[in-house]
Amino acid sequence: MTAISRTQVGIVGAGPAGLLLSHLLALRGIDSIVVENRSRAYCEARQRAGLLEAGTVELLRAVGLGARMDAEGLEHGGIHLQFEGERHHLDFRDLTGGRWVTIYAQTEIVKDLIKARLAAGAAIEFEVSDTEVSALDTDQPVLRFTDSAGTRHVVTCDVIAGCDGFHGISRDVVAAGGHTVWETAYPYAWLGILAEVPPSTDELIYSHHPDGFALHSLRSPAISRLYLQVAPDEDIAQWPDERIWAQLQRRFALPGWKLTEGPVLEKSITPMRSFVSAPMRRGRLFLAGDAAHIVPPTGAKGMNLAVADVRLLSRAFGATTRTSGSTCWSATPSRRPVGCGGPPTSPGG
Ligand SMILES: Cc1cc2nc3c(=O)[nH]c(=O)nc-3n(C[C@H](O)[C@H](O)[C@H](O)COP(=O)(O)OP(=O)(O)OC[C@H]3O[C@@H](n4cnc5c(N)ncnc54)[C@H](O)[C@@H]3O)c2cc1C
Repeated sequence: MTAISRTQVGIVGAGPAGLLLSHLLALRGIDSIVVENRSRAYCEARQRAGLLEAGTVELLRAVGLGARMDAEGLEHGGIHLQFEGERHHLDFRDLTGGRWVTIYAQTEIVKDLIKARLAAGAAIEFEVSDTEVSALDTDQPVLRFTDSAGTRHVVTCDVIAGCDGFHGISRDVVAAGGHTVWETAYPYAWLGILAEVPPSTDELIYSHHPDGFALHSLRSPAISRLYLQVAPDEDIAQWPDERIWAQLQRRFALPGWKLTEGPVLEKSITPMRSFVSAPMRRGRLFLAGDAAHIVPPTGAKGMNLAVADVRLLSRAFGATTRTSGSTCWSATPSRRPVGCGGPPTSPGG
């Protein structure tokens, strides 16, 4: 069976980029559909980012998504750097004219976004398969997917946003129109654990050690997030919890300070890679977030970049999409959209 429908913006991917874009567009009166190949439970449990920059926090507050973040997030005014057996505090507020960071897990942002979007009656299709985008050089690009019940959908859109992360389909479609990639693969990876133990630190500790780097981060007053630098081809099976804690104890060791251990809830190894693909657009398909660029988690930057991308994209879609549903995108990326829309006025602008 095939279902045919129409919306203004088709969004591939229900990560932070796709969900937030859908929310920002709704605030501008623009309809969208989000299609996601994983289940809602999987998206809400996928452990990733935890550090939000002040600009991300301010945007989430401005668009009505700050209540739980403000109640449960942990505001940090700096970090600790440890090297040659000493720990030094770096004061962000002092160095940046009052800016700060907030610890609030990406899983919680995704939960907040899904809840808000579904409460608003938004269309989010989880567990889709065979996602395809086509007719990108026309003014009616098409998003196709098969829903979890097996129905094939053909959705005609005004524009499509590829927010489907590093392993999604959208970047390859843009690349087929010609693109340039800048990539660096680093000769190490991060072994990350989520541990059920109150953090042993008030703010993040970045530790340089002859055995390799270590990071003590956190997710909440009861949950710690810790990382160890390991070889890029390291086998997680070779790292039982005792070995992980022993290495963490060694790399963070400091007289008078104690790292408290606890049950390991989750562990994984993340390769370290920097990657940028340009252009971020082909016809009426626009990339945002990890689909177009990733930075290693060392910088705690990727989700903040994804948020910045969709903030701009929602503004651009808002300026070119009439609430009636038609848009005025030019066919070539170098030319600005013409002939319709006024300056954006809603939050996120
Ligand atoms: C260990 C680790 C720590 C990190 N720490 C930080 C941090 O502290 N701060 C920070 O800012 N960033 C951090 N990041 C980076 C951050 O997690 C990512 O940059 C962020 O998830 C990007 O969001 P996104 O929505 O662009 O992509 P994603 O979160 O990858 O979402 C893409 C979505 O698209 C879906 N999808 C893929 N293909 C398809 C398809 N064909 N059809 C439908 N759906 C599809 C995926 O299932 C996924 O749900 C970290 C990353 C890692 C791995």
